[in-house]
Amino acid sequence: MKEIFNLLILGGGASGLAAAVTAYEMNVKKIAILERLPRTGKKILATGNGRCNLSHQNISAPDYQGSYDVTGILENFGSAEAFFENLGLYCRTDEQGRIYPYSMSANAVLDALRLQCSGVAEFCNEQAVKLFCKNRIWHILTESGTEYLSRFVIFSAGGTVQPKFGTDGTAFRLLENLNIPVIQGRPILCPLLSDKKLLQSLKGLRVKGSVSLYYKNKLLKSETGEIQFTERTISGICIFNLSVLVKHQFSDYEISVNLFPELTHSELLLRLRKCRGERLGLPYEDMLSGLMQKPLARIILNKSGIRTNMSCVRASQSQFSRLAENCQNFRFPVLGTVKEQAQASAGGVAGDALDEHLQVKSHPGLYITGEAVDVHAPCGGYQLHWAWASGYTAGKAVAEQISAEKNL
Ligand SMILES: Cc1cc2nc3c(=O)[nH]c(=O)nc-3n(C[C@H](O)[C@H](O)[C@H](O)COP(=O)(O)OP(=O)(O)OC[C@H]3O[C@@H](n4cnc5c(N)ncnc54)[C@H](O)[C@@H]3O)c2cc1C
Repeated sequence: MKEIFNLLILGGGASGLAAAVTAYEMNVKKIAILERLPRTGKKILATGNGRCNLSHQNISAPDYQGSYDVTGILENFGSAEAFFENLGLYCRTDEQGRIYPYSMSANAVLDALRLQCSGVAEFCNEQAVKLFCKNRIWHILTESGTEYLSRFVIFSAGGTVQPKFGTDGTAFRLLENLNIPVIQGRPILCPLLSDKKLLQSLKGLRVKGSVSLYYKNKLLKSETGEIQFTERTISGICIFNLSVLVKHQFSDYEISVNLFPELTHSELLLRLRKCRGERLGLPYEDMLSGLMQKPLARIILNKSGIRTNMSCVRASQSQFSRLAENCQNFRFPVLGTVKEQAQASAGGVAGDALDEHLQVKSHPGLYITGEAVDVHAPCGGYQLHWAWASGYTAGKAVAEQISAEKNL
């Protein structure tokens, strides 16, 4: 007779491993992970530029968007630091509140998870292609033609971006075939495509400032940080966080760059006049080089209708006013999101299909975790925090059900 597992975890990423560790620590026997890639946790190794920004010190429910209310799960999970300390991994927090493993190495995070579930079976190179329940036993068929049986299934197959890490959204078909409502995915936490002509001369520049996203000329959100320009994109963590809000027709969105967010318009005018006083007789381009990098000075002058080689002695009041306006509100059209570079996707299983333990209400015994739930958050450790918290919740709920059945 075929072996029946107590718990099969579909997807060996962040939330799947957190679920496995939790259930294993709570004494669940016969747990297995099915992973389509040759190894588990490949994406974890790439997070935080190889350092794994695993959580943030100020996390609360309003940081998360989507159709599932995460409040109860975050409260019950507590801190990611405590979760990892329990696995023997110590953390450190940087000046922006981001939490990393003490060694600043993502390998340490994956090791901590894998070392703790040494008794969990791993079946790699196994892509689940069908999922159904018969006589209270879940059946998972894989592309290799193998069938796995289990009493409980935790679906931790991630979102719809980053196929190189095993996540391309195809796993959602398994749920759709069970009529579980899935909200269509879209890339988030990614660079924004903009006008090549404007960006051409800015390629490679990194500047500090603030960026604001406008939809049909209405301000949606502003962020401060480093703004990076490439040939086709505007990027940086501040842009990644704004990309979450780009949901409709791209042409209705604009990014406004403010190079002097700490100054009011009149303070900037004063500063420009001071600069002119110190660089009298020089061309505008050189006058501005004391305040910003030359390629930026050139496009701002251009936009303000001022020749770069014109002497700044001849500057008029209205020219200075236009210049200040463009320094603080330089608009770039949004032409798209860069899916290939997205760190996550929005969308996933609809919140009202799940109970407080992430069990699918219409399919007892089936749980959903991580990015596969319609929950998303900004950069800074929030995504992974959700992965750990949701994996922990589902793993614990399965362990408690199994233990309750034993005591009957
Ligand atoms: C480059 C990069 C950097 C990031 N940096 C950070 C960061 O520093 N901090 C942060 O908070 N977040 C970060 N994120 C986001 C974070 O990694 C994800 O949100 C998180 O890993 C999601 O966890 P998950 O368990 O839902 O899915 P994943 O970790 O994506 O795991 C899903 C797993 O399921 C497997 N799978 C999929 N389909 C099947 C199938 N049919 N059968 C079997 N297996 C399947 C996949 O191969 C994969 O291993 C980053 C993401 C990327 C891409």
